[in-house]
Amino acid sequence: MSRVLVFRELPADQLERLQAVHAVTVADPRKPEQRAAYDAALTEAEGLIGSSFKIDIAQAPRLKVVSSISVGVDNYDLAALKARGILLCHTPGVLTETTADTIFALIMASSRRLVELAQHVRDGRWDKNIGEDLFGWDVHGKTLGILGFGRIGQAVARRAALGFGMPVRYYSRRPVDLGQVPGLEGKTRHGSLHEVLAGSDIIALTLPLSEDTRGLIGAREFALMKPGAIFVNGARGAIVQEDALLQALDSGHLRAAGLDVFGTEPVPLDSPLRSHPKVTALPHIGSATHETRHRMAVLATDNLLAALAGRTPAAVYAL
Ligand code: NAP
Repeated sequence: MSRVLVFRELPADQLERLQAVHAVTVADPRKPEQRAAYDAALTEAEGLIGSSFKIDIAQAPRLKVVSSISVGVDNYDLAALKARGILLCHTPGVLTETTADTIFALIMASSRRLVELAQHVRDGRWDKNIGEDLFGWDVHGKTLGILGFGRIGQAVARRAALGFGMPVRYYSRRPVDLGQVPGLEGKTRHGSLHEVLAGSDIIALTLPLSEDTRGLIGAREFALMKPGAIFVNGARGAIVQEDALLQALDSGHLRAAGLDVFGTEPVPLDSPLRSHPKVTALPHIGSATHETRHRMAVLATDNLLAALAGRTPAAVYAL
């Protein structure tokens, strides 16, 4: 039996699996009333499971495994985990299609002004046929640029190329062998960051946040985008310099932006991006469906149970 700290709510069925074999403390450090219990449990914990919180592993001298309920691992101090030989597990794959759905929804919403026009109806302002000032922009047939072409990027590309007749350009450090990606051969093309930004009508960000990608999209990159382009971020807010994004929207260079993620989350009330008329802002819901959040919890629980039992977990992040 090991000591396990659950630092974010876990579905009851997965919590029971852990409690059946381990001594489990549930304490969410984001809730002030649970903070002391979290700090105390961290000093004893051999296994952690949760997400969306920066853990100070210096406070966890007995730690053997961290099981993140997320695919992105930017919240963890990877060098410190590696130095201490602590295993890091995550949840790739099970959230790919749901997150791609969210990104495509943002592409649609930004291009066709869905949120703005739904609000128009709700507000009782639909008193005559809408005019050109409220028209949208076609999505089908537009060139989509995808930054990062891993699981999620490719799932977005499939929706675009096969469903919407969109030519797809993508940027990643290496071209992907499209023979391994059914349906996309001949429909997508690898390019440099510069080429993809300059050659696309709509740009979707699906890169991981790392020291290489932090702040990658700034004033120079927005200037490279076509006038009237749409920018969608379904990855991590800190990859984008938000002041440069705001400037690109305010100057009229960008048509619109769809943002699921922000540099600071929840997005601060005084952030101009939160209520900007050209921004469709979502509260980081990329994977947030009942089915997918449960699948993520199951995989994260499987990973933790395997690691604590001395078996190799299904999804270890290579540090
Ligand atoms: P993945 O399969 O690992 O794909 C990452 C892609 O980015 C690969 O094509 C990789 O290719 C490329 N890449 C990595 N570092 C790069 C760099 N420095 N420069 C250029 N390209 C780089 O990951 P995924 O499962 O698609 O997830 C991607 C990210 O989406 C996650 O890390 C997470 O932060 C985010 N996400 C967000 C939500 C949400 O709720 N909004 C949900 C799930 C995931 P190369 O290594 O060949 O360059």
